[in-house]
Amino acid sequence: MDDTHSAVERPAQPVVVTKPGHPISRQDVDPDAQKIIYRLHRLGFTAYLTGGAVRDLMLGRPAKDFDVVTDARPGQIKKRFPKAYIIGRRFRLAHVHFGGGKYIEVATFRRISDQAARETPAEESAPAHPYGTAEEDAFRRDITINALYYDVINDAVIDYVGGLEDIARRTVRVIGNPAERFTEDPVRIWRVLRYAARLGFAVEEAAEREIPGHAHLIAASSGARLYEELNKDLAFETRPVMETLRKYAILRHVFGKAGEAYETDAELFSRLSSLLDIVDRARTAGFLPTLEEMYTVLFWPWVQPLLEATGVDYHKVLSDSFRDAGMRVSIPRNLRADSSQVLIIVAAIDRALRTGRMRWALLQRPHFGPAQRLYFLFFKGRLPEKDESFEALFRQAFPGGRKGTRRRRRRRSFGGRSFSDQK
Ligand code: ATP
Ligand code: MG
Repeated sequence: MDDTHSAVERPAQPVVVTKPGHPISRQDVDPDAQKIIYRLHRLGFTAYLTGGAVRDLMLGRPAKDFDVVTDARPGQIKKRFPKAYIIGRRFRLAHVHFGGGKYIEVATFRRISDQAARETPAEESAPAHPYGTAEEDAFRRDITINALYYDVINDAVIDYVGGLEDIARRTVRVIGNPAERFTEDPVRIWRVLRYAARLGFAVEEAAEREIPGHAHLIAASSGARLYEELNKDLAFETRPVMETLRKYAILRHVFGKAGEAYETDAELFSRLSSLLDIVDRARTAGFLPTLEEMYTVLFWPWVQPLLEATGVDYHKVLSDSFRDAGMRVSIPRNLRADSSQVLIIVAAIDRALRTGRMRWALLQRPHFGPAQRLYFLFFKGRLPEKDESFEALFRQAFPGGRKGTRRRRRRRSFGGRSFSDQK
């Protein structure tokens, strides 16, 4: 493994930029992350801020999680920080806790990437020499703009991989040979496209060229990892990322037939895209959709025509469609069941407002609240105001009063599990 690692062949001469050459201010750095860095420094270790936080601060965006890297080994960190817990089997790293559930991730510089470690035989619990220098740690990362370090002590940005130039050029560049890095871990294709989409950066040509030939490998990645990556994109700025994934024909490798439908049917995708746009905007105004709601949004444009085409059995249509779609992402069973229920109730609300027939018992279901909220989003292109509700809409449309549906045949169609039945 040593001799295939290109980082060790390069001279360790990083570009170091001090103020006023970079825009990061210590005030933007989480005080607890700073405490850890200063403490490690006093103990004689090197410690930097790294990853997404440095990238976002360099771009003048607020940083989300403040990850620290250091040359201190996990055991050394644990000894010196009473509230440090070691996690991970292969790559052990420390979580330093600060109360209220908050923790800062403190990792030791690594030589090789997570994916390379995953490929070591299962009986070896850790690669023989997993740890390395700051330089090696930078080179095992995915893209140059994610591999910068911020040295809080000296107020300097350290760049081994050309990330600063790429920030200036607004380019997403894969570290190393894109074909090799994509083969080693195809999820990196998704990551390249994510940061290009979120930041409005271009994908560097050498990487872009390798995407079509390697995209199919994504389908062979673990469904759990795809789920992890998907959740990052469902948390914010969902629309630009989904649009970019579609442009590069990645959706089919994640969502199977649902992804194909979104890729081949421009009209279908534009419906998804405008829903995601409304959600992204509402989020910046404080709306916090749940994961269950995000999965409902994601699948609604795809399932709506399928539900409409059936008379009654929504449950069966959903479970058949999801089973036959051949999705590669593993969505946990409970989440699938919950968003199925929401999808079914949204469709029922729509049908009630068109036909005047409603199964009123649905209003008692825990999924009714989210379904009502999403009905407004899907059919009115906005979230409901405080005084708006399904019942108010129904009274307005059918002043004659409530009508129930016949119970006998319909009962099963709204009940039970749905695409959770998928294997
Ligand atoms: P954000 O959390 O804002 O999406 P991030 O850069 O922090 O961005 P994470 O997914 O949290 O992204 O990963 C943290 C860091 O780990 C990345 O910045 C990158 O350096 C490294 N990394 C993550 N995934 C990979 C991968 N598949 N291959 C190599 N390095 C990776
Ligand atoms: Mg992160």
